[in-house]
Formats: sequence, C-alpha cells, structure tokens
Amino acid sequence: MTTSAPPWAGQIIQDGVGCHLEGAPDPCVVVIFGASGDLCHRKLMPALYDLFVNHGLQESLAVVGCARTAYDDDQFRELMAQAVAEAGLDLARWDAFARRLFYQPLTYDDPASFAPLRHRLEVIDRDCGGCGNRIYNLAIPPQLYADVARSLSAAGMNQSDGPGWLRLVVEKPFGDDLQSARQLNAALAEGFAEEQIFRIDHYLAKDTVQNLMLFRFANAVFEPLWDRKYVDFVAITAAETLGVEHRAGYYEQAGVLRDMFQNHMLQLLALVAGEAPPNMDAERVRDEKIRLFRCLRPLPADNLDGTLVLGQYAAGRVAGQEVVAYRDEPGVAPGSLTPTFAALRVFVDNWRWQGVPFYLCSGKRLAKKRTSIDIQFKQVPHSLFRQALGEHITSNRLSLGIQPEETITLSIQTKKPGPKLCLRTVGMGFDFRAGGEPMHDAYEKVLLDAMLGDHTLFWRQDGVELCWQWLEPLLRACEACADRGKRLHFYPAGGWGPPQARDVAPLLADRNE
Ligand code: NDP
Repeated sequence: MTTSAPPWAGQIIQDGVGCHLEGAPDPCVVVIFGASGDLCHRKLMPALYDLFVNHGLQESLAVVGCARTAYDDDQFRELMAQAVAEAGLDLARWDAFARRLFYQPLTYDDPASFAPLRHRLEVIDRDCGGCGNRIYNLAIPPQLYADVARSLSAAGMNQSDGPGWLRLVVEKPFGDDLQSARQLNAALAEGFAEEQIFRIDHYLAKDTVQNLMLFRFANAVFEPLWDRKYVDFVAITAAETLGVEHRAGYYEQAGVLRDMFQNHMLQLLALVAGEAPPNMDAERVRDEKIRLFRCLRPLPADNLDGTLVLGQYAAGRVAGQEVVAYRDEPGVAPGSLTPTFAALRVFVDNWRWQGVPFYLCSGKRLAKKRTSIDIQFKQVPHSLFRQALGEHITSNRLSLGIQPEETITLSIQTKKPGPKLCLRTVGMGFDFRAGGEPMHDAYEKVLLDAMLGDHTLFWRQDGVELCWQWLEPLLRACEACADRGKRLHFYPAGGWGPPQARDVAPLLADRNE
C-alpha cells in the first residue's frame, strides 16, 4: 500500500515491499522430548497450536509429546489445552489440534523404550500424513541431550527409511565451556549431521532482532555512518526485572555470563557490528557472524579493571513488590558468588570498528525490563553556537528497542521555538506496532523455520565454539581467583545495577528516565 502523505514520524509509508514469502512446510511430526516440562508448556505447545491455526498446518502437522511421566493421550491433551489457554490463545480450534496431538512415555537413556515411539510415529504418519518427516525437539535438561540423541540412533530413528527428513532441534545451553560444547556436539554428531541440527537462540527470532539486518542493509543513510569515524560507542543492554525464578539449579552453575553473554549478547553484537552478507542465504548470514566473532579482541583476563564489572542482586523492590536477595532465593547457596549482573567492554578488532567500545550489559532484578541497542554517534566536530550554548552539544543517538518497547528512535537536535537560540533534543521514532500487525512469539518463527529447513536463525557449531573460546578466559579469571568475592558488587533489586558499572555501561544512568 502506498500513501501520498509526507513521511511524518512513525508513519508507515509503503508496506510489504520485498516480502520474503515462506513456502508451506512439508508435512511433519514434531516430537517433543521433555513434554512434561516448562518449555513445552509455556512456549512450544502454544507456538505449535498457533502455527496449526494460523499457518495452514491443519493437514500437515502432528505433535507427539514424550517424557518419563506416565500420561496417556487424553491427560496430555488436557494439560496442553491448559497451556494454550494460559498463553492467551483462543481454543476454538483446539479439538482439531488435539486429534493430531499424542503422548508416548519413554526413558531418555533407554533405546528399548524408543521402539514403541518408532512404531507409533509410523502409525501417525499413516493416519496424519507425516510423510516420514520428523522434528525431534530436545526440551529436556542439557545433560540429557546426548542420551536422547544416542537413543534415537540406537533405535534407528536418526535415519529415514524413505525420502523423509529428520531434524534435531536443540535448546541452549550448548555446553558450559568450550570443552563441554565440543563433547556435546560430538555426541550429537554420532547420529546427526550438522545440517540436521538446529540450535535455537529464540532471541534471534524476535522481529526486532531480525530487523537489525533489514534496518542496516535496506537503508542507505545509516550504513555509511556505521563505523569508527562516526560512532562513539555502542551499548547493548538486556535488563530484566525477573529474578532467578525456578531456574536456580541451572543459574547457580551458569551465572549471567554463560546465560546471556555467550549466546544472546554476542548474537546481538554480531548483528549490529557484522558485515553485510552477499545475500540472505543461511550459510552466508552465519559466515558473517563467524567472521565477526573472529574479530573479537581477546579479553584481558589478567586485568579486568575497566573491562568487566560483576554484580549480584540484594533484596529490594521491583515494580512495587518487595523481593528477596539472590542468595535467599530457593535453591541458591547462602554464600553464592554467582553473578546476576555483568557489564563488559568489548572491542572488535577490524577496519570498521577499531577503537570503538561496545558496552554489553545484562542483569536480573533491574528497574525495568528493556533490551536495546544504542548507537551513540560522535559529537559535531565544531560548535557554531559556542557563545550561546557553550561547548557541549548533545550528540545523536540511534536506539533500537528490542523488547518490550519495539521501537526505533533517533535523537536529533533542533531549535527550541522562541526568541532565544536554544537547542533541544527530540526523538524521531517508529514503533513496530504502528502497523497493527500481531507480533508473533519467537518460538513460532524458530519452529516454522525448522520445519522449512531454514538455518538462518540458528547457531552453527563453529559459532558456538568461537564464542566459548573467546569468553572462556574471562570465565576462568572470574571463577578461579581467590578474591572472587571482591569482584562481585551487590546491588539493590529494582535499581540499575552496581554504581561501579557506570564506566563499562555508560548508558545505565540514563535508564532512570
Ligand atoms: P524442565 O526442567 O522443565 O525439564 C523438562 C522435562 O525433562 C521435565 O518435565 C522432566 O520430564 C525431564 N527432566 C527434568 N529433569 C530431569 C532429570 N534430572 N532426569 C531426567 N529427566 C528430567 O526443563 P525446561 O522445560 O525448563 O527446559 C528444557 C530445555 O530448554 C533446557 O535445556 C533449558 O535450558 C532450555 N530452555 C528452557 C527455557 C524455558 O523457558 N523453560 C528457555 C530457553 C531454553 P519427565 O520427568 O516427565 O521425564
């Protein structure tokens, strides 16, 4: 649609240009291992139901839940109907979906218990038209990934008897260091080829994250400014108000660096700092990320002053509610030194970004949920208005809101109306919701892409390993040293992290707006 109206801020001027239309996926059966768990309940089942209803998969999708818990089909369907209702979806088409939803109990490390599953899948193929295509979704704790992959292989379920394809979808974490990531991959690779493996980073499937590439490479005006000549620094912030919730067991081992930096934060960095791929072919897009990861300057693990600040939340108030300290959360050790906040200064050693700091910051129990990327441009080279305004003119900033605000804002300087020569900073903005289209959950996108066999939004193993390799000296330095406790700054829940972080998270102070 085109309009003749002038381009007022935030207005959609032309819509749907160059839409990359996804074809319909082949019929397939999605097998969820860990179907009794949280991820299946909160994310996978609502996403599959929504795809079934709104993406024309009524004749082509069947879903089989598997776990140790001894449900039958009806019990599982009832539970999943609750899950879908809790996700706020309309159950009008539930009965049709439920007819294609099944449950098969099994033991993850017992290949013999996979034989009934194999038989069941063949029956479902016949009855529901799955054509032998399978997605095996590992929604189980990571220590079980290798067991399930091996059981699938031992039961002969990693190879298709006919033309059908088999894909293995793996949730993060992909290891907890380089060695374990390699071991996990070796275990998966015993039965599955790299092109069969889809490593999910659901962050990448958010519309606003995908928009990063479109914004950079479909607009001629920004890309020429996107380098060391014009950019002062880049801040990538992922602030959460949530605490550790029910994930203490995992989080105590992982901490914020493993949970957020090795994966989501580095993916955002790659998207904001990487070069343009020659086209949108999945491997070419992933190649550019690899190239960027290779340019990350090694972290000075022997002296982290000015590079890293770690924090852990103390008791405080978030959104008007009293919340306990991390150390008082159920499942957390009373003297835990696990960081729930990190601010890290990173450099990208290449021609484009030499000398430009990238400030990566993420924390739990902060004042506001906000993930954003801010490109801070340099100051004007000379102030014409020195006498009237002094030396300082606020420099431009481009803010890309990822969640929950899904916005693009460019701050610019304009004259404040009136007799005096006076500047004011105003925002030119666009809100993703301006078009009124429904925003889809990222899991819908990743599941659909797995059905379509499109790897663009999934991690490739070389990327996983490069990121661990880069982060590992930092992890070792943080975890091994005797004064580990001294590195950790406690911050009250509901604030913006420890004040010591200001040097490595320069925009945090602005967050109080
Ligand atoms: P859960 O802890 O809910 O576990 C899923 C299922 O696995 C459980 O219902 C249970 O099923 C089985 N299980 C759990 N622990 C064990 C064990 N020690 N031995 C054998 N079986 C066990 O996990 P989630 O659903 O939260 O997460 C699944 C995966 O997805 C994890 O790797 C997680 O890191 C990842 N992930 C989760 C997210 C989330 O929001 N939940 C977000 C991003 C990634 P049963 O006993 O019936 O066999």
